[in-house]
Amino acid sequence: MTGVSDLRDLYQEVILDHNKRPRNFGAIDDASRKAEGHNPLCGDRLTLYIKLDGDRLVDVRFSGSGCAISKASASMMTDAIKGRTVAEVDALFDAFHQMVTSEPGGVIEAARLGKLAVFAGVAEFPTRVKCASLPWHTLRTALHEPGAVATTENETTS
Ligand code: ZN
Repeated sequence: MTGVSDLRDLYQEVILDHNKRPRNFGAIDDASRKAEGHNPLCGDRLTLYIKLDGDRLVDVRFSGSGCAISKASASMMTDAIKGRTVAEVDALFDAFHQMVTSEPGGVIEAARLGKLAVFAGVAEFPTRVKCASLPWHTLRTALHEPGAVATTENETTS
């Protein structure tokens, strides 16, 4: 079991690393799904590209501009979901969403979340939760409401 303070240190490190060298950055020309996300609170904008083979996400990329947290979150999310099925990705969305919107020290499905558990640190900064969850909302839109624009405006953080 990883302690909360360890997670906080790791959180800083991971954000810096992924912000400097984002994984899966760029477009997919023949994407099966594409969605845009916008976080008006911070100004983060991103476009997510997904290539599906059946119900498996064989490739995932993102482009756009945003703060370090939104970029790091998109980078880590694309890493985590590539190769998974839509059902697996939906379960991961739920676990991630629950973690970042729960009270600090709340339940973290660490086994399911893996490296994404570092984002538990963001729950302490309510205004940053939307930055971290923007890529995930955009992902959900791309998979389930293609053509729509994801926004964090309706996000409940309580
Ligand atoms: Zn942001």
